[in-house]
Amino acid sequence: MKNIKACKHCSFITEEENCPLCGNPTSREWQGYVVILDHTRSELANRMGINVNGKFALRVR
Ligand SMILES: [Zn+2]
Repeated sequence: MKNIKACKHCSFITEEENCPLCGNPTSREWQGYVVILDHTRSELANRMGINVNGKFALRVR
């Protein structure tokens, strides 16, 4: 993957310098990700406080 970054605040994966969801800066230092297809049914999304669908990094530095 090239230039894919993850938000330091909400872990949303994006190519932007700033997160399109929360506006916080993104980082290239991240590991692993989950794909949330239906956040209303995902226990993981609930635990991570995710309320949109998309890709989220498991760990962001
Ligand atoms: Zn964010």
